[in-house]
Amino acid sequence: MKVLVINAGSSSLKYQLLDTESGEVMAKGLCERIGIDGVLTHTGNKSDEKFKFDIAMPTHKEAIQSVINILLDPEKGVISSMSEIDAVGHRVVHGGEFFSDSVIITEKVLKAIEDCVPLAPLHNPPNLTGIQACREVMGPDVPMVAVFDTAFHQTMPQSHYMYAIPYEYYEKYKIRRYGFHGTSHKYVSQQAAEMLGRPLEELRLITCHLGNGSSICAINGGKSFDTSMGFTPLDGLPMGTRAGNIDPAIIEFLAEHEHMDAHEVINILNKKSGMLGISGVSSDFRDLDAAVADGNARAALAKDMFNLSVKKIIGSYVAEMGGVDAIIFTAGVGENDRSVRWDVCEHLEYLGIKIDPEKNKYRGKQMDISIDWARVRVLVIPTNEELMIAKDTERLVNEAKAQ
Ligand code: ADP
Repeated sequence: MKVLVINAGSSSLKYQLLDTESGEVMAKGLCERIGIDGVLTHTGNKSDEKFKFDIAMPTHKEAIQSVINILLDPEKGVISSMSEIDAVGHRVVHGGEFFSDSVIITEKVLKAIEDCVPLAPLHNPPNLTGIQACREVMGPDVPMVAVFDTAFHQTMPQSHYMYAIPYEYYEKYKIRRYGFHGTSHKYVSQQAAEMLGRPLEELRLITCHLGNGSSICAINGGKSFDTSMGFTPLDGLPMGTRAGNIDPAIIEFLAEHEHMDAHEVINILNKKSGMLGISGVSSDFRDLDAAVADGNARAALAKDMFNLSVKKIIGSYVAEMGGVDAIIFTAGVGENDRSVRWDVCEHLEYLGIKIDPEKNKYRGKQMDISIDWARVRVLVIPTNEELMIAKDTERLVNEAKAQ
């Protein structure tokens, strides 16, 4: 099945056309500066050549139209008719408590995604706009599926997802831990089961999605059991520019002493904290590694804090699940930064965890990096959220056809 995967942001829109049988990415690209002027970057036609065009994109509709046009282009495209696109899979950030799986998009589903806007005011509105734009351009007959970042985590037990604030706020506003990166955690857990040659249902996994945004997930028998991001993606680990969890009383303290309102403080916790805030150098781990090599103490401190937080969460998830069979590293940092993997797993021999320093030198490659005797396998698995979205889309469209 050929599935067009769409990830719509407020002024950008990423796309990939995937063949679900082979997993091949037939074409991919990015529309940027939507609502400003419009730039399309596209790779397709079976070569790695990148094409860049200025195309007016006053709204997401023109962006989608330009994606379809370039896919149909006789030279740069990969299909000869729009009917070759069997379905569209949309990444949607927040599905609240409505969705525990991906879903075929209907009017009812659109309404539920809209009801989740207060939970993800920056993300769900552009996701909705992307869906509407696609419908307008491609017509109502192309099946469309919504794949939520939060859905995978809906299996968490209540004691894991509640915050210890008055219960009425959960009832009134649905304040609870939701978790994010669900598509990535689910994908790498399935890959891990394949690599280990064991059924997912028998495995206790800890998946570490470490990128610009980072989260960790305890996956017990294939189901999300706990995760580090919370009500918003600000919770959990310190990240590129996000603080991760801090004592909430700091917010009031800062507001008072720096003459800011809560919104401004949260903005600092989202955009000026984490690796950037501590190091004063960069949010990018490559820059931090270079600074550490130059003897920059604050860059080293930032990385130590990050690694310690990952280790602490792994420890707590081992305790929660009563053991672990494999730890998985994925996303930009997890796949590439060997010093993070090494420091996180150091001194965990008593848990049966030990990385082979030679195997740990590889990056961006799916492999088992543990030493032979290690009871717990440490795996590096490049994530592929687009493929997961395409596969979910295929599954749901086929299920709907069979009914
Ligand atoms: P996101 O999808 O959250 O934006 P990614 O998963 O693409 O993030 O991860 C991006 C981060 O990965 C970069 O900020 C960078 O810190 C890190 N990264 C990428 N390549 C390397 C590398 N070779 N070594 C260390 N860190 C890397």
